[in-house]
Amino acid sequence: MEVTGDASADEPLMEVICPACGGIVEAIGAEELVAVATEHTRDVHGYDVPREHILNSARSID
Ligand SMILES: [Zn+2]
Repeated sequence: MEVTGDASADEPLMEVICPACGGIVEAIGAEELVAVATEHTRDVHGYDVPREHILNSARSID
């Protein structure tokens, strides 16, 4: 069985802890993590977290 479109297959599961509420935000890959974390802080807390801050705080779950 051929595997196709596996560009995202090697993206790690990542998490970042929200500095405002301590909630854990999880996503596949850095780009998705930034998107989900940004949406969380914007919707729940009403402010934007810089992309750089998210990436600095993020860690991959292996
Ligand atoms: Zn939060």
